[in-house]
Amino acid sequence: MKNIIDTILFDLDGTLYEKGRPIKTVVNTIEILRKERMKMGFITNTDGWPVKYIHNRLIDMGFNISLDEIFTPIAAVREFFVNNTDKSCYCLVNDNVLKSFKNLNMNDINPDYVVIGDFSDKISYEEINKVFRFIMNGSLILALSKTKHYFQDNGININTGAFVSMFENACDKEAILLGKPSKEFFNIVLSHLGSISSKTLVVGDDFTVDVVGAKSINAISVLVKAGHYNEDLINKSKVKPDYIIEDITKLPSLLLELKR
Ligand SMILES: [Mg+2]
Repeated sequence: MKNIIDTILFDLDGTLYEKGRPIKTVVNTIEILRKERMKMGFITNTDGWPVKYIHNRLIDMGFNISLDEIFTPIAAVREFFVNNTDKSCYCLVNDNVLKSFKNLNMNDINPDYVVIGDFSDKISYEEINKVFRFIMNGSLILALSKTKHYFQDNGININTGAFVSMFENACDKEAILLGKPSKEFFNIVLSHLGSISSKTLVVGDDFTVDVVGAKSINAISVLVKAGHYNEDLINKSKVKPDYIIEDITKLPSLLLELKR
């Protein structure tokens, strides 16, 4: 089975680039893999920026990647509603992200789903209570992130996941995460690419989302020793990465090894 890998899902930050610059010669590595006719998906949990913005950044860094190969929680929400055209939603997201959802079937009265992402530009008691009532009336929760905080130059900041937890707690309902490591997210990506998990490699630097996510769909996981790489975490966990490589530039030789 191992010699028929036809799809690679790449994490972005810490795997393809670090601090806005490509890691070593990864731009060239992607070209090498293109020649192998690999199907590729570029997956990230960034939920505060439209996909187009992320695509432009990758192009500026020199990567040969097309817009529809990039999967963020925002792209996954769009794909989710393309696959469920009869379902409506209410989106609690910032105005920047809302533009990406303009073709969705919006419903301000009794939506089937509420989509929760970064909504820092419109946090108010009224808005929160409105969404709370939707969920209590039966709306399901689609979360763009379950990350509870993030760090910036100014220090630690509360993140989308904390608000998702608040709604889950208040309504006794579990949100469906459309980001890594959720299997719903990975399945949306694979179905868009027309791929199956047993022929898919997931490559990333973050054990908790990239490796755990790969395991959730039984794909093959490759951990790179960069960015979030944490050996202690791997030693303590029952889940283990299938392969560990120094960085992405070693991926073509790993694929050759797998073919043997
Ligand atoms: Mg990463």
